[in-house]
Amino acid sequence: MADIIALLPDHVANQIAAGEVVQRPASVVKELLENAIDAQATSITLVVKDAGKTLIQVTDNGIGMSTTDARLCFERHATSKIKKADDLFNLHTKGFRGEALASIAAIAHVQLKTKTEGAEIGTTISIEGSEVKEQEPAVVATGTTISVKNLFYNIPARRNFLKSNPVETRHIIDEFHRVALAHPQIEFVMHHNGSPVFNLPASNARQRIVNIFGGKTNEKLVPVSEETEIVKVSGFVLKPQYSKKSRGEQFFFVNDRFIKSPYLHHAVSSAFEGLLKQGTHPGYFLFLEVASQSIDINIHPTKTEIKFDDEHSIYAMLRATVKHSLGQFSVAPVLDFNKDSGFDTPYEYSKKQPSTPKIEVDSNFNPFIEDKKPRQANITFPFKREKQANWESLYVGLKDDTLTSPSDQTETEHPEALEFESDEITGSLFTSSENDTQFTTFQLQQKYIVNPIKNGMLVIHQHLAHYRILYEELLKNITVQEAVSQQLLFPLQVQFSKPDLDILDKVKEQLEHTGFAFAETNGDHLEIKGIPVAVSESQVETILEKLVGDIRGEVPDAGFSQNDLLAKSMAKNMAIKTGTPLNREAQEHLIHRLFACKEPSVSPDNRPVLITLDTNELDKRFN
Ligand code: ADP
Ligand code: MG
Repeated sequence: MADIIALLPDHVANQIAAGEVVQRPASVVKELLENAIDAQATSITLVVKDAGKTLIQVTDNGIGMSTTDARLCFERHATSKIKKADDLFNLHTKGFRGEALASIAAIAHVQLKTKTEGAEIGTTISIEGSEVKEQEPAVVATGTTISVKNLFYNIPARRNFLKSNPVETRHIIDEFHRVALAHPQIEFVMHHNGSPVFNLPASNARQRIVNIFGGKTNEKLVPVSEETEIVKVSGFVLKPQYSKKSRGEQFFFVNDRFIKSPYLHHAVSSAFEGLLKQGTHPGYFLFLEVASQSIDINIHPTKTEIKFDDEHSIYAMLRATVKHSLGQFSVAPVLDFNKDSGFDTPYEYSKKQPSTPKIEVDSNFNPFIEDKKPRQANITFPFKREKQANWESLYVGLKDDTLTSPSDQTETEHPEALEFESDEITGSLFTSSENDTQFTTFQLQQKYIVNPIKNGMLVIHQHLAHYRILYEELLKNITVQEAVSQQLLFPLQVQFSKPDLDILDKVKEQLEHTGFAFAETNGDHLEIKGIPVAVSESQVETILEKLVGDIRGEVPDAGFSQNDLLAKSMAKNMAIKTGTPLNREAQEHLIHRLFACKEPSVSPDNRPVLITLDTNELDKRFN
């Protein structure tokens, strides 16, 4: 057979790459603004026409480009920002992939005007669909102006796919906000269709927020500030009474880069726990600084997702810090006591005596000073006694006060799956004891986790425990709709019969709340674009198949029973099985999370999750 493989011509490769980098006009805005910042500009102007469909122009007073660079910058993988692979682990610039300009030039009419500081004359280049049309010396100011016209002119399908002007403008403004918030020391100006939209002078972070969101914002801000070895946090949260029904102002910046992180969002939300009216979301502007080696920004082409080395510590630290700030600034709790608390607990919890809800906002509480004995010199985070009731009820009859109570609970609503890696924070549950070894756990027949407690021992069924944990998490995600999703690089295709697809369609919304993201079904295939973080790709098919099986037998109506059924089915299939070896950290982690549950002692199917064996009982057996 003849050879059939050929290398794609550059302009085709660029167009394909452009599909990843440039989804809409706002993506171009982001890339151009970031390039201007990387070029050390102190003043940046964005001009937009027709929601960016006709023109996006960014002018900066940065370092500019030489004539050669002006030509080179449109080549794919042409970047001045990294030279070797190692540089990837020590990034201080926004860009580094060297694809943005090449991608944009492949799908638009682009004009570049640029001049470096020392040069007498600058350069202007016009390029269309990756082809240079014109290059000339030009008299221009130091800095760079890039104009992007007629975006997607050569890809009609993409152009037609663009949303209405108001929607695309909204996206542009969102990007503009993100970049402007991250760099208050830079002046930003924006014009749309000839009118000024924003005029933001260089300022501090607080002033920038107020300049963007309006004068009234100032009084809503509560400062947040903390520094530890691994992360420095600064910024503001909005007082709880200004939380919004819709997701309002929620901004995370890591090393001055806007990022999306459902995981960190969860940390902040949980710091607000008890302070927000149901169904409202906290607002925040939080700036995290971490060592650039400790993050990986490279996991998404648009660079809005990053991976932290020490995600758990950052989660705990963020939560504690925000809590502390809310306490320090005596932010009055706004609890709705008239609300029927029954709605909060979507499963059987009726046998318990109701207890008066208590919100303590301890203005002196500093989560970082009480900890005298950090374990292995790592930070631990003593937390307030939120869920102690669970423990106390479990240990009724065991009058043992040397057992550490979970006052240092850190991951009560931790949204993700059982971690089998070493995790100092979860381990801290057992660390404050004088005699550490006394609290070791061990696994029995790869089925039970045994945990000595002073008056006897605790035997936990690992599968049922994990089942309980995941069930509560899933149910919570479904009801509060706050799940964490991991986007798949390559969507999964799962085949189902038509009736089964119909069944899945009925629970699609709930599944999405747990973190699934579906594309349109095509034929008998379900295309899955995103999955819950607690699920691995290899589990997806089984989980969905079992789910269909479980639902098929019953015809659940909408509402709680359907959610309950779904959470049960998924949790059961996701939970670790008997026969799975667990190392000590995993065992402790499991116990820790179990006791953060509302009902740790029974499985969702009403089987006992744990039993305690009192020494008195043992003594009797030996008589
Ligand atoms: P990256 O930002 O990932 O390096 P880009 O395609 O966005 O890739 O830009 C390519 C290169 O062009 C940059 O590395 C930089 O050297 C140069 N460049 C782009 N925009 C500007 C600008 N506004 N001012 C100066 N140089 C720029
Ligand atoms: Mg760039």
